[in-house]
Amino acid sequence: MGLGDADITAHAAISMRLIQQDFTTPRRTGDTSRRAPAAQPAAPIDLGILDHMRASVHEIVTHTRAAAPNATPPPADAAAVYAWMDEHTAHLEEEKRQAAQAIVYRQTLEHALKMGDESVVRRHPCPSCGCWGLFWRAAAREAACLNRHCAGPGQPSRTVTLAQLAHQHVAAQETRRATRAT
Ligand SMILES: [Zn+2]
Repeated sequence: MGLGDADITAHAAISMRLIQQDFTTPRRTGDTSRRAPAAQPAAPIDLGILDHMRASVHEIVTHTRAAAPNATPPPADAAAVYAWMDEHTAHLEEEKRQAAQAIVYRQTLEHALKMGDESVVRRHPCPSCGCWGLFWRAAAREAACLNRHCAGPGQPSRTVTLAQLAHQHVAAQETRRATRAT
């Protein structure tokens, strides 16, 4: 029963769609009373978001093709690549399927952060100490644990990558599924 996989795939597609919409919708400057100087375009194209979308799709396509060389060509729509990946990796052995799911889940976290939602990090327990004190360090692009005992005496804060959070999430989901199945 691949309910969890469907959730992860659908969630990733929704978050990619949000980014697409944000990218294609003209930006509101907030202050409409004062016109922007003519030299500054009113709706600047955020190349960071475009790059982010392209890199995300590229990673999904590359990984899927490596895991399933006979996969059909990927869809043109960026948000549709997750269902495409799911379709072509669902039959693979457990380990490979989970690796694909972890990539998709990590991208969902990356999409949320790209949109300025850092709360997605707090929704995961620290993989090391299990506390709910993770917070996002934007400059370092990593999560850090608030628990000062987590890293050990004299050590800097325990840090966690998004990939680690994604692996933890997918593994926990598999454990729940296995528990339900028995
Ligand atoms: Zn911790």
